[in-house]
Amino acid sequence: MYLYNLLEKQVILKFIDLGLDERILEGIDAMGYENATPVQQQVMVPILEGKDIIAAAQTGTGKTAAFLLPLLHRLLTMPHTAGDINAMVIVPTRELAIQIAESIEGLSYFTDVSSIAVYGGGDGNSFTAEKKALTSGVDIVVCTPGRMIAHLNMGYVKLKGLKYLVLDEADRMLDMGFSDDLAKIITFLPKERQNLLFSATMPVKMRELSKKILRDPVEINIAISKPPEQIVQKAFVVYEAQKVPIIKDMLRSKKFTKVIVFCSKKQNVKVLTAELKRAKLAAEEIHSDLDQKSREQYLQDFRNQKTNILVATDILSRGIDIDDIDLVINYDVPNDGEDYIHRIGRTARAATTGTAFTLIGEKEQSKFATIEELLGAPVLKGAVPEEFGPTPAYAPKQAHKKSFGRRK
Ligand code: AMP
Repeated sequence: MYLYNLLEKQVILKFIDLGLDERILEGIDAMGYENATPVQQQVMVPILEGKDIIAAAQTGTGKTAAFLLPLLHRLLTMPHTAGDINAMVIVPTRELAIQIAESIEGLSYFTDVSSIAVYGGGDGNSFTAEKKALTSGVDIVVCTPGRMIAHLNMGYVKLKGLKYLVLDEADRMLDMGFSDDLAKIITFLPKERQNLLFSATMPVKMRELSKKILRDPVEINIAISKPPEQIVQKAFVVYEAQKVPIIKDMLRSKKFTKVIVFCSKKQNVKVLTAELKRAKLAAEEIHSDLDQKSREQYLQDFRNQKTNILVATDILSRGIDIDDIDLVINYDVPNDGEDYIHRIGRTARAATTGTAFTLIGEKEQSKFATIEELLGAPVLKGAVPEEFGPTPAYAPKQAHKKSFGRRK
């Protein structure tokens, strides 16, 4: 059993580096994902290698795509039985079944992989449609336990070719009393299969279930931290072109004495620092293009308050200990929730208070919504002063759909 830990994460993994099938990469592109989230970084390789996994991961971490992408890749690239069910994803609720089926539809848009959501509560028509798909074979079935058993008991479900079993939100399934149903479903499945288990928590009974189902699993534990409570977080929904003028305005307000501005790209660090210097603000830059000596010098100047604004890439977001930072500005939305927490954690150290502002550009709304999901609550949205002109509405789902619509 291996133990992968988030803290070991150093590099940003691009989907293209995983060698995923071209058609899946197109689907990822259409969904607007750029880099793999921490869960995805740790989960995808062992799944691609055919290993069983048990992963502690919460909703909002990108766990659905973490298992769907390698699953789709294996369905497309490994021999599989046409006209049979190849993968079964069991989930606790019909909402989750629908949500996962939608993700499959999006990510597999450029492939011929077929899928169906099978869940209770519908009318007779939906049962008939499910029966038809389960009889004629469908690549992926996403189902709730009770409804699946109703079909299995009728004897027409084609399961001989099943190679993948996913249990998502397994702790909720146990809490909802589905333990026996799961055991029953498993008696219908071929023994030779890859098993993937996801659960937000890992109580003892989960360990017991996993021992029954999984074979020598890779264990993945994504410990999600929460930002300190004394940080006041605010986000501003803006157009990309409004970012620089708004940041200048925030910095001129003089309410803050020591500020770090984070940018995801070093090019943005350079451009923004030049703009701030031009506006006679005492700013300096830190990124990987600078030699070690200059970096140390600029950090020293910042500590000694020769400069009071540091514009930096994420190299400064972890482990750097500078006291008294009262404001962190995210020029752009960080790649994932952990990066967000690390960035804003630069302020309010040692029990002082701090403020964290995030500028959300038009294309970053979905990314920020994912972070909010991970934080468990929306971040307060601040009003942008009228002088900067109209700003976009915060509608992350729509922003998502818009980028999706381009493909059609
Ligand atoms: P989940 O944890 O699976 O519920 O995913 C939460 C949200 O993150 C969903 O809206 C996904 O579409 C989104 N998401 C998943 N993977 C990525 C990624 N690599 N980059 C950006 N967003 C993602």
